[in-house]
Amino acid sequence: MRPIQATVSQQALAHNLNVVKQLAPKSKVMAVVKANGYGHGLFNVAHGLNAADGFAVLGLNEAIDLREAGFTQTILLLEGVFDARELNIAASYYVDVVVHCQQQLKMLLQVSLIAPLHVHLKMNTGMNRLGFPPNDYMLAYDTLTACVNVSGITLMTHFATADEEIGIDMPLDMFQAITQSLPNPKSVANSASILRYSESHLDWVRPGIMLYGASPVTATSVAYFNLKPVMQFTSQLIAVQTLTAGESVGYGQRFTASKPMRIGIVACGYADGYPRHAPNGTPIAVSGKLTQTLGRVSMDMLFCDITDILEANIGSPVELWGNTVAVDAVAEASGTVGYELLCAIAPRVPMKAAD
Ligand SMILES: *Cc1c(COP(=O)(O)O)cnc(C)c1O
Repeated sequence: MRPIQATVSQQALAHNLNVVKQLAPKSKVMAVVKANGYGHGLFNVAHGLNAADGFAVLGLNEAIDLREAGFTQTILLLEGVFDARELNIAASYYVDVVVHCQQQLKMLLQVSLIAPLHVHLKMNTGMNRLGFPPNDYMLAYDTLTACVNVSGITLMTHFATADEEIGIDMPLDMFQAITQSLPNPKSVANSASILRYSESHLDWVRPGIMLYGASPVTATSVAYFNLKPVMQFTSQLIAVQTLTAGESVGYGQRFTASKPMRIGIVACGYADGYPRHAPNGTPIAVSGKLTQTLGRVSMDMLFCDITDILEANIGSPVELWGNTVAVDAVAEASGTVGYELLCAIAPRVPMKAAD
């Protein structure tokens, strides 16, 4: 069998969830498990995060899968429903919905539900993606309060700059000013906001990336936040080449040796989800030792320098990212973020839960 594999550490998930709980001891935790658990497998992560108070997903199908697997926590549809028919299905599975626009509000007013829904009413505080403008928020709130299809309302917003220098003062103040007198629970903080702004924790927090042991803040390592990488993305060397000075490797000869070198060929390429944009010098580990990639990443293979790793040979273990190589380091070298790499792990990579 092709030696590539991803393992998902249940222990690291539980550890990272505990970091959230220690930082925000008074808040309930809505674990964000959208995008197939940030690429880790919905059930792999739901089991590891079973101590969370809720799960946030995008699709009703994911919500139903979680319910049918026996998860009894709050489940939230982060974009709400996409048509009125979904409201009754959500109600029958006790799934909460975001309401972020007039159209969704109207659907709720017009539908006849078998049971009322809990709604998360979203305010747009500057992201300009989803949510009611602050000026329209109270009218939407009053409408939902009077609606027989609504059993309760959580007040929410999402920050555009929790991971940036500018921070969340303005959007948080805007949100608080309008919701100040309301008795409802509030939910505003993503990972960056949880890690950086305790004043944003409120009744619920919504961590995503930090649960997976990747950093939401550029240039700040997960170790700094005491988070553990959840995914170990590994493979093996399937060939070894020796280069003399002047010889090149791979498509386009993007790396040329200036001295004699040993090159390891790794069974992992962009069709496995490794970023094709990773340049020469992207960190990778062979036999537990840090080294670097060389040449252009191809569909099924990539190259690395094993000149100084004398024991490396065909069959030697390779870590693409995990405990030795931070996914954030691979992402930074490739001009992206850990989020994108984790979500992009290809379905052809066998994935399994591990302790
Ligand atoms: C994805 C998402 C989160 C989690 O964000 P992270 O940066 O991964 O912590 C929280 N809230 C909403 C509304 C989201 O869409």
